[in-house]
Amino acid sequence: MQPAPLPPLDTLGRPVRDLRISVTDRCNFRCVYCMPREAFGPDHAFLPRDEILTFEEIERLTRAFVSLGARKVRLTGGEPLIRRDLEHLVARLSAIEGIEDLSLTTNGSLLADKAKPLAEAGLHRVTVSLDAIDDPTFTRMNDARFPVARVLDGILAAETAGLGPVKINMVVKRGWNDGAVLPMATYFRGTGHIVRFIEYMDVGHTNGWRLDDVVPASQILETISAAFPLEPMAPTERGEVARRYRYADGRGEIGIIASVTQPFCADCVRARVSADGKLFTCLFAVAGHDLRGLVRGGASDEEIAGTLRRIWVARDDRYSEERSSQTVPLTKVEMSYIGG
Ligand code: SAM
Repeated sequence: MQPAPLPPLDTLGRPVRDLRISVTDRCNFRCVYCMPREAFGPDHAFLPRDEILTFEEIERLTRAFVSLGARKVRLTGGEPLIRRDLEHLVARLSAIEGIEDLSLTTNGSLLADKAKPLAEAGLHRVTVSLDAIDDPTFTRMNDARFPVARVLDGILAAETAGLGPVKINMVVKRGWNDGAVLPMATYFRGTGHIVRFIEYMDVGHTNGWRLDDVVPASQILETISAAFPLEPMAPTERGEVARRYRYADGRGEIGIIASVTQPFCADCVRARVSADGKLFTCLFAVAGHDLRGLVRGGASDEEIAGTLRRIWVARDDRYSEERSSQTVPLTKVEMSYIGG
């Protein structure tokens, strides 16, 4: 019998460890930095249903990625919880041997009802996006009238269902919600939940990103540590995007994701599959590789794994390290489509 081939490494020596799967390109929020209403209005053409991967197809692709070494799987979107019966997909994926971490990123709007069935289906953890702890700022950021209290109910339901510790993602955009950084840190300090402050990125091309809109990680850290002293923590694994800090008084930790001012491409071990089955080897890509055609065209499991391997060994993406005034205007795929 032939020995199993070694897990592939890309041209920069990076393995594929994390798989992010977008289950829908639709969302019920219109966050200004992600799906601005001017670009994602009533006339926007979302993916037709028959172009979206079925749960069975997603499971098959996931098994192929796991055979190449993927160990973490995250469901995302769009808003993943608007995909009907998502817990059925979670049940399929949680049965795959080799997945060590199965998680979900959500805006939390439907989490209060969904947390228990998701946990029962085998989900391990959730990350909830929340850009402010006060309603006016939150509404300004997501452009959808939705109370913070409902997201907090979702976080509580997740914790109760055993999906904690909950990570909470806050994208910081200058002049929009930078005043909410300290209130967010203050609110979640001592709760066991981990807020991760994210530099606003030039993903996609509809959000009109400008470097001036980015609040650098250093400034976010200064704001929080002036009120609550912080100590850096060691990373726990390769590819961890958040720099971790703990409160000196022991009341928990925060993370900072500085993909603009301190890029981490050298450690990027992520593959992304869009809802219509395209593989993207970088969050800032302009094009993907069609996997749906392969799956629907009758390819065997070995052929699918072979194609993924060929794509991965040729991977040379390092967008954030190469970012410049020339790269910013590229028509990169939207985050709502590729999956955050
Ligand atoms: N709808 C889900 C949610 O809100 O978490 C999942 C998809 S969303 C695209 C995933 C994450 O990407 C969210 O935490 C969101 O805030 C973040 N995100 C979207 N656009 C971003 C940008 N331009 N810069 C930084 N983070 C962004």
